[in-house]
Amino acid sequence: MTSTDVAVIGAGAIGTSVAWRCAQRGLSVTIIDPAPERGAWQAAAGMLAPITELHYAETELLQLSLAALARYPAVVDELTAVTGIDVGYRQHGTLAAAWDAADLVTLRELAAFGRGLGLTMQPLTGAELHELEPALAPGLPGGVLAPSDHQVDPRQLHRATLRAAITAGATLRTATASVRVERGAVCGVDLDDGATITAGRTVLTAGAWSASISGLDDSARPQTRPVKGHTVHLTDVGELRHVVRGRVGGNTVYVVPRDGGRAVVGATTEEAGFDTSTRLGAVYELLRDAQTVVPMLGEARLGEISTGLRPGSPDNAPLLGPATIDGLIVATGHYRNGILLAPITGDIVADLVSTGTLPELADPFRPGRFRSEVLG
Ligand SMILES: Cc1cc2nc3c(=O)[nH]c(=O)nc-3n(C[C@H](O)[C@H](O)[C@H](O)COP(=O)(O)OP(=O)(O)OC[C@H]3O[C@@H](n4cnc5c(N)ncnc54)[C@H](O)[C@@H]3O)c2cc1C
Repeated sequence: MTSTDVAVIGAGAIGTSVAWRCAQRGLSVTIIDPAPERGAWQAAAGMLAPITELHYAETELLQLSLAALARYPAVVDELTAVTGIDVGYRQHGTLAAAWDAADLVTLRELAAFGRGLGLTMQPLTGAELHELEPALAPGLPGGVLAPSDHQVDPRQLHRATLRAAITAGATLRTATASVRVERGAVCGVDLDDGATITAGRTVLTAGAWSASISGLDDSARPQTRPVKGHTVHLTDVGELRHVVRGRVGGNTVYVVPRDGGRAVVGATTEEAGFDTSTRLGAVYELLRDAQTVVPMLGEARLGEISTGLRPGSPDNAPLLGPATIDGLIVATGHYRNGILLAPITGDIVADLVSTGTLPELADPFRPGRFRSEVLG
């Protein structure tokens, strides 16, 4: 039996950030994960896109996402200084392009809603769109520019954050963790290699697996589910100046350009349980729609097809804060924004662990919010 101040279950996008920030505050931290490379981050496109990811019913999430975006430059500078890793943070903005008149109406309506919230979402004619991004298909009717939606490379970000956490003193254990409960409170974790780690605070950051962690009864279990996504990684892609999001006959697709002629095309959203196999129809539809908006992709080379499991929640917003059982903090359910929200989540959890107070920004995302609705 060993002991630590903070046990972090899951070394994905969120767990590594939590571990880094807690270790920086002088806490002893152990991160446990049997297979960090299976995290959703390895399939993620890395869009930092509170504005082009705007959904009508998600205005509280928008505030958290905008705060997360604002912290990114400083976090990137810090990570690069500590690790020397280029995390691929690029600030070229995002273009949303419509394929037909109905797609344009949908985009323009959302942009008007966003402008009403004070967001910069600039409507563009087809000609303006093409001038900003010559690689787009000729004849598109128009779109919207979101100049502050940026991108990062999630694989490099994960590598850098894990390295920064270890440099700050955190330890990584390769094992599957279950929650250890004594006298009605969480007091650490039991590992499948027979070890027990007692901890002052246990943080559940197991992404799509969070609801299936052993040791918790149903009342304390976070309400997450896996939401499968495919991305297609291309090489030998010609010049793209922006992240491009296409709306093609009601379907959505994005193309995220990376350095060295690479690009990521994504993503599907599938309720398929824990299945991570590659579905040909998904890949076909993504590439078809991407090439419709950016025809030159037909000349690119296929690098890799990835699938990952986003941690979905009942309202598509994260579960952040003290669990309904003492000793446990939950930081999961980041769904399609976990790369964007990882750094701010690390800060929020580190604040909570060290002060006992959940920062106000996180208050709407308390993990117990669904249960109190049920109980009235
Ligand atoms: C196709 C796709 C595209 C995406 N694009 C974007 C994007 O553009 N922008 C954005 O912001 N987000 C994006 N996301 C979402 C983002 O990747 C996720 O929200 C984020 O990775 C969630 O982080 P996490 O740490 O909660 O989970 P993960 O990164 O999945 O990590 C969870 C970890 O928990 C570990 N674990 C599970 N069970 C246990 C256990 N019992 N003990 C110990 N460890 C355990 C797993 O092995 C895993 O390593 C995308 C996701 C997908 C799938």
